[in-house]
Amino acid sequence: MALNLILWVSTLAAWAQDYSFPTSAADHGHFYPTAYKDQGGTTDWNCGGITYSGHDGSDFGGGSWSGMDEGRDIVAAADGTVLATNDGEYDRCDTGTCDGGGGWGNYVSLQHADGKVTYYAHLKAWSVLVSAGQFVSCGTKMGEMGSSGYSTGPHVHFEVRVGGTASDPFDGPCSGPPTYWVDQGVYDGLPGLSCEDVPACTPVANLACGQTYSTANNGAGSSGSHSYYGCTEFTYSGPEIAFSFATNLNETATIRVRGNTADVDLFVLGSTACDSSNTIGCSVNPDASEEAVSFSAGANTTYTVVVDGWEGAASNFSLSAECAGVWPGTEPVEESPPPESPAPEETLDTGPFEPVTEVPVDPEDDEGGSPGKLGDPATGCSCRAGGGPGGGLIGAALFLFWRSRRARTKKVQAPESDGR
Ligand SMILES: [Zn+2]
Repeated sequence: MALNLILWVSTLAAWAQDYSFPTSAADHGHFYPTAYKDQGGTTDWNCGGITYSGHDGSDFGGGSWSGMDEGRDIVAAADGTVLATNDGEYDRCDTGTCDGGGGWGNYVSLQHADGKVTYYAHLKAWSVLVSAGQFVSCGTKMGEMGSSGYSTGPHVHFEVRVGGTASDPFDGPCSGPPTYWVDQGVYDGLPGLSCEDVPACTPVANLACGQTYSTANNGAGSSGSHSYYGCTEFTYSGPEIAFSFATNLNETATIRVRGNTADVDLFVLGSTACDSSNTIGCSVNPDASEEAVSFSAGANTTYTVVVDGWEGAASNFSLSAECAGVWPGTEPVEESPPPESPAPEETLDTGPFEPVTEVPVDPEDDEGGSPGKLGDPATGCSCRAGGGPGGGLIGAALFLFWRSRRARTKKVQAPESDGR
């Protein structure tokens, strides 16, 4: 796998998801930073001291206990799929040592399309409105600010992890670029409320029943933006190429890729949006030369088919659709023949679209992007207080669950248990 990774790193720049400040417009004015991520030596991203030793997230207060009692919305900072939640923990902790959620108390974690994971911690008890596996849009309320877990007062702990490692969302002289905020705002101020859309995954061609295309997932029309398609527990960070598929019949359709020489995977999405909200099926065998997805296609419905490389894998392949219908709107027109004239020969138009020309795989390097597998949820923080919990049992259990479901041989990032 390592060799493959070196040889087949994408030429396409990786798209990175940016965030909106995780509250509603109504509550935005109530928040203020209380502790940024520690960049070492109790130094924050701007080389100031608004942090404490070892703090991995960004803390924002919202008016102390009265603010908490009024209710302060905590919302998704970007579109994503809920990885894990915890709720029901005591939420008026003022000692920094209350149990629950591995120190995070009541929390939500979100998987984003680019592989990054965000965490929203110390929420109010029984305020969590989302559940694992749910797709949420940027700005969707997920809970309310509280003081559960290792907290000394009401605030939200917002943390970003890249490949399981905490990463500062702020860019400044003591924190390397990039910023993860759409609008970072000024030091000691607040990031703005601007959501960033996941880039569209534009189909390069229409795939009709009986057609085959030969191309590559880093060929013409491919995209470096990638998505967590929701079919499996892993994110995909490689180049991808998308097709539209439709048939005029209600029938079982099988979409197949053949001739794979690297680890590309196949997804069928129930919309043209090409985001992680509507995956119908996937085939994600490791290093397989062939992948296939069969599904019940509805007549005259347009689906999106994505061929995506695992961690930068790129490969030539042949993509085909096995089914009986024709592309909607291209059915032959039946005309009543004049009396005694011979019946016209039946013609079948397989669609107006040119097959994609074969494009060789380009093995040139670029930065490739992070692997972006799931981070473990619960290695809590000790917001405004020292000490931290051990690595989360919840995270370990989820990890084992994911891993057992996937049951593949690919390198899997072990949950980090850094004791914070
Ligand atoms: Zn914190």
